[in-house]
Amino acid sequence: MAVPKRKMSRSNTRSRRSQWKTSAVHLVECNNRACRKPKPQHVVCPHCGQYGGRQITEPA
Ligand SMILES: [Zn+2]
Repeated sequence: MAVPKRKMSRSNTRSRRSQWKTSAVHLVECNNRACRKPKPQHVVCPHCGQYGGRQITEPA
């Protein structure tokens, strides 16, 4: 396995990490026909509480 020859300086580490950025959450339309609210993908809908056509949590 390839191994780094020298320890990377704190400055190099920090300047590389300064480029890390967050991205906006990917929103999709709720599958519930009555809801159709934008929600994060692969997440129970916070509006109607349904996921994959099943009621998971109580609607808010
Ligand atoms: Zn919904």
